[in-house]
Amino acid sequence: MTNPSAKIVICGAGIAGIAAAHALTVVHGLDNVVLVEQGDPLSLTSDKSTEAYRNWWPGPDWAMTAFMNRSIDLIEALARETGNRFHVNRRGYAFTTADTAKIPFLQTMAKTAESRGAGPARFHETPSSPYKPSPGRGFDFPLTGADVITDPELIRRHFPYLNPATVAVAHARRAGWMSAQQLGMVMLERARQHGAKLLKGKIVGADTAGGRIRAVEVELANGRQSLACTHFVIAAGPMQKEMAQLIGVDLPITAERHLKMSFSDSLRAVPRSAPMLIWLDEQHLPWSDDERAALAEDEETRPLLSRFPAGVHGRPDGGDDSTALIVLFNHHGGAADVVFPLPQPAHYAEIALRGFSTMVPAMQAYAGKAARPFIDGGYYIKTRENRPLIGPLPVAGAYISGAFSGFGVMGSCAGGELLACHITESALPDYAPAFLLSRYEDAEYRALLDRWGDGGQL
Ligand SMILES: Cc1cc2nc3c(=O)[nH]c(=O)nc-3n(C[C@H](O)[C@H](O)[C@H](O)COP(=O)(O)OP(=O)(O)OC[C@H]3O[C@@H](n4cnc5c(N)ncnc54)[C@H](O)[C@@H]3O)c2cc1C
Repeated sequence: MTNPSAKIVICGAGIAGIAAAHALTVVHGLDNVVLVEQGDPLSLTSDKSTEAYRNWWPGPDWAMTAFMNRSIDLIEALARETGNRFHVNRRGYAFTTADTAKIPFLQTMAKTAESRGAGPARFHETPSSPYKPSPGRGFDFPLTGADVITDPELIRRHFPYLNPATVAVAHARRAGWMSAQQLGMVMLERARQHGAKLLKGKIVGADTAGGRIRAVEVELANGRQSLACTHFVIAAGPMQKEMAQLIGVDLPITAERHLKMSFSDSLRAVPRSAPMLIWLDEQHLPWSDDERAALAEDEETRPLLSRFPAGVHGRPDGGDDSTALIVLFNHHGGAADVVFPLPQPAHYAEIALRGFSTMVPAMQAYAGKAARPFIDGGYYIKTRENRPLIGPLPVAGAYISGAFSGFGVMGSCAGGELLACHITESALPDYAPAFLLSRYEDAEYRALLDRWGDGGQL
């Protein structure tokens, strides 16, 4: 067990740092935990997400599924304890395609997900097959696994708003969304009630004399202060690489810029009870002939006529009275430098909206006139194989909880729990080795990386 006089400094009060503070104080009873945050808690990346979760993860093994199942268990337990204050639903993710060649892929994915612990695969190939939509609210029902619907009539009956060319829908059931900001606030409040302190300041240095963490240097409003500590947790989101460099550790991570657009779907093109909708096909954006001709004339707009990648996705946001719809289209991909304020690629809202309208054609009514779209986003911080880094670093007393890519909200609770188990030297779950930085020291693991798939990124 950790020495009770341990002083734990966590750099960053995003959802990763807050979940770590929550696990250390509320679960393990440590009262000497300080969260150092340069801005407002949860305000850099953690309140910019799509706030969604899923236990549908690719391989090559069961580790991500087990990690997310555990995290969802913990999220649901917190939701039960708080009367679902952060509005978790379990509407699922509907992966959709108009490409018959993708049907075997979806069927295999569902079977493979089942073998990794995501729940049973069910196949619906006739109109009378017993597929049931997920309830719009709540999360406390037993349906898990995935339903792969390939019967056209069944697809039309349950998803009349999808492109009529849709030939398959894979509906992953232990999935949905919540208010990430409220989840974070629930954990922060509880951690503070159990003694965690929140200090506004920027960590700018670290004392690692003798190869162990002894103190961090914090820039406060009224000057610099050295904060003695026995443990230092890097949960710095987009700044985690530079924080690790402060203690001489080079993290194998890159950043990707991801944006999202919210706007008012006043025509209710997407039903308010819809699940998360994901289009799995590459596409050319739907333009009219006149628009196409006009776009072709200008070098700046010509790229809008090119082929766009798969993966546009979105979901309704807010309650039944809301008309808000969130749409994400990471068509601009690739590694990026971390720069704030976030640069925006040209025409993002138009591209996201048009791309989404390929999946939900009624959205084409908004073409060129979506009511005041609002764009925000942040950075996915990623390892090569899209798995997080959770555990000790090669400086005694230093830890990381990071590289949470596009799954830091859904993985926050299990991430915080795992980090706290490392610090307190408690029993570790089976998936712990999969997330250690030291995994890259293993030559076999490094070889596996060359054959690794896409890591399940959305
Ligand atoms: C567009 C988009 C959509 C997403 N959708 C989803 C989704 O649907 N589901 C999901 O699970 N995840 C999603 N994510 C990912 C998720 O938002 C992130 O993985 C998660 O928020 C990362 O949390 P974090 O605590 O690591 O980082 P952050 O929230 O960025 O927190 C890090 C904190 O550290 C602070 N900090 C940094 N350096 C210092 C310093 N030197 N001193 C003091 N403080 C410092 C920062 O100010 C910041 O507050 C999405 C992300 C984006 C961008």
